[in-house]
Amino acid sequence: MTRPLRTRSAAETEGAVLDLVRSGGVISRVELAEQSGLTGASISRVVKRLLDRGLLVETGQGDRTGGKRRTLLELSTGGRYAVGVSVDHARLTYVLVNLRGEVVANVEAPGIGQDPPVTVVRRAAQGVRELLDGQELCVREVAGVGVAVPGRLDPGPPGSDGSSRLATEWERLGLEAVLGEALGLPVRVEHDHVSAALGEFWVGKVPASASFACVYLSEGFGLGLRLRGDVHRGASRTAGDVGHMVLDAGGAPCWCGSQGCLEALAGPAAVVARVMASTAGGELGLTGSRAAQHREFATVCRAAADHDGVAAGRDATREACREAVEASARYVGTALLSIVNVLDLDRIVLAGPGFAEAGPLYADSVRAEVERRSSRRETGPVTVELSGLGLYSAAVGAATTAFA
Ligand SMILES: [Zn+2]
Repeated sequence: MTRPLRTRSAAETEGAVLDLVRSGGVISRVELAEQSGLTGASISRVVKRLLDRGLLVETGQGDRTGGKRRTLLELSTGGRYAVGVSVDHARLTYVLVNLRGEVVANVEAPGIGQDPPVTVVRRAAQGVRELLDGQELCVREVAGVGVAVPGRLDPGPPGSDGSSRLATEWERLGLEAVLGEALGLPVRVEHDHVSAALGEFWVGKVPASASFACVYLSEGFGLGLRLRGDVHRGASRTAGDVGHMVLDAGGAPCWCGSQGCLEALAGPAAVVARVMASTAGGELGLTGSRAAQHREFATVCRAAADHDGVAAGRDATREACREAVEASARYVGTALLSIVNVLDLDRIVLAGPGFAEAGPLYADSVRAEVERRSSRRETGPVTVELSGLGLYSAAVGAATTAFA
């Protein structure tokens, strides 16, 4: 661990101990003390609290070591659940997960659209109630609700778009308190890219000691960082704003005021615009409108990956889409190469709805870029993979925050 557990709050310590159990599968109190740096007495107290809350169970005894049997601990498999909600322009995704992050139930609903946050919160509360009503759970079995919200979003023309100033409005609204009161459950709110990283860590068998980045693509790019066991949020909790990493100092202007940002060069809007500059834009009926962006980006990605069986006579359309997606993927690879080299990461996971259609194209490109030029080549390969959680990565990750 990079930071001794004794400098953390009780909740952080419990979360870190749960992480050690999760990554260890089964583990003894003695091993937990060794790995956490806490005293045996402290570990016993933390473990007792986690046992009392039903988060851990004792599971038989390990081998004799030094003449003393060790009771082993593992995550509870039932009786304890959490709700995750991913809030996005395209869709609201609800999941009910067990302690291992396995999705027990899920529901999808229309996204934010033009709704102001206060309306979205009302819909989210209703959605959570409907998800839980379909299950035979008692309230005590539900640890709480985690909500993944977008980070920095394109503000658009002032006053023209309900999504403008979204992150600020969530804060002003006091989302945790408002939703918590509506549901009668503890609610935690996290950025979607951080949630996705937490989900990968919890479910994706990532070792507790790994330093990894989770690239989350939805409206734009976000980067969740987990460095040797700790989530990195930065000084003002805005770490991971990789969409505005400048890749071309004199490049295309970005809405953030800078030029040549990853988002301006390679984000969904840029990919759609690139295809619209060719005859393929008309073939696919692209409009380039903000409201249709997620749908049109998915259309381009599907054509690029040839999922929708573009007819032989439309090879040019497929080729234009493929070129646009591959250009985007090269920029993503370049950005991630710098991040891998600066932070000495050993793993990159691509997650989020933006990778649903052409994820393998992006993963191949990032892998090629990182393998070819990473400064880690001498010390070991950097693993690049697509999330196995698909559209649920942020929702599952948000849910796991409710267990901590
Ligand atoms: Zn920018």
